Amino acid sequence: MALGLPPERLATTAMIETTNYPVPDTPHSVSRSIARKLRRLLDGVRRASIVCHMSPDGDALGSSLALYRVLTAMGISTRVITPDMPPRNLMFLPGADNIMIGSQIPDVVERTLASAEVIFCLDFNDLHRVDRLAPMIEASGATRVSVDHHLDFAMEADLIVSDPSSSSTCALLYHLLAASGLEEMIDRDAAICLYTGMMTDTGNFSYNSNSPDLYLIIARLLAKGIDKDDIYRKAWNVTSESRLRLCGYALAEKMEIISDCHTAVICLSHEELMRMGYSRGDTESLVNQPLAIPGICCSIFLREDRPDFVKVSMRSVGDIPVNRFCSDFFGGGGHLNAAGGEFHGSLAQCRSRLDEIMPLVAECLSNSTTNSL
Ligand code: 5GP
Ligand code: MN
Repeated sequence: MALGLPPERLATTAMIETTNYPVPDTPHSVSRSIARKLRRLLDGVRRASIVCHMSPDGDALGSSLALYRVLTAMGISTRVITPDMPPRNLMFLPGADNIMIGSQIPDVVERTLASAEVIFCLDFNDLHRVDRLAPMIEASGATRVSVDHHLDFAMEADLIVSDPSSSSTCALLYHLLAASGLEEMIDRDAAICLYTGMMTDTGNFSYNSNSPDLYLIIARLLAKGIDKDDIYRKAWNVTSESRLRLCGYALAEKMEIISDCHTAVICLSHEELMRMGYSRGDTESLVNQPLAIPGICCSIFLREDRPDFVKVSMRSVGDIPVNRFCSDFFGGGGHLNAAGGEFHGSLAQCRSRLDEIMPLVAECLSNSTTNSL
């Protein structure tokens, strides 16, 4: 208190001895043999690339940039590559301004991937999720390492850490680094990145977040000097006029409630997006909002990005498997309660597809064992 700062501020910004806090147990998915192989691999490489999925979220970017810090500190020349532009609200992450964006400089990205000795594939379970980077990764002779927490892992890689029980790739990466003897290489900036992914993929620790181990990781990240309250403000309390107006319009004018299926649907056409001055990231988390209405168990958002292409996002509570709906109807996937997919056709055609899904939602609700209503 000598500095006149409130105690919590001192606690979060000062470095504290991490050894004061127990190291969480390593999950089974991070075997000793994988950790040993990773360490041996890293001790022998000079050039690495890190790739995450398109429309990167906090977990995809956070894990990529955390690993970037660690590898760079180990003397490995490393580049983070995203298929497309990251959203504005994540540009505060340390290292974000150094990212190579596939859609902007495809030739440079192709050369970078071709010369990498190791390519890390973070936070995706299928090469389709990296769009135009997929053939470049396939053509590369680099050793491939995948770290991911999505269901239905379907990638070829030399080292695989796939654990759908982990709430984020960032948490999994923490365990992998710790098991490989690299926890000390996680500096404050890397810790900011890891915490961001853990926070965003759990909706600020409001779902998939009952594992005590998560909080042991957080204790150690806090001890490295991160300010989690500041991370929250930077990740969430940043908006723009277009985003506020678009979300207001979507909720006021476009939200349809299908009461007998306890479902909310929001459709935004290409024309509406253009008219409202939409830019990428403006609808981030819009799909979550209808779930705040008591009794709404399923929320669906259809965004017509182009006149012939619709991005589908679904959220649910309880045991309504939106990942199954997204994979069966929209060539996508994701998690039980948060999933997405794509539709090639008009918004109206995409909307009529939902009529086939509604009876399945109703059936799930009638069989539901959880008390989500
Ligand atoms: P969002 O609705 O925020 O775009 O995506 C939520 C989750 O759904 C993502 O974390 C990802 O796991 C999954 N997801 C979203 N879009 C797709 C897609 O097109 N294909 C697949 N396989 N999964 C997706
Ligand atoms: Mn993730």
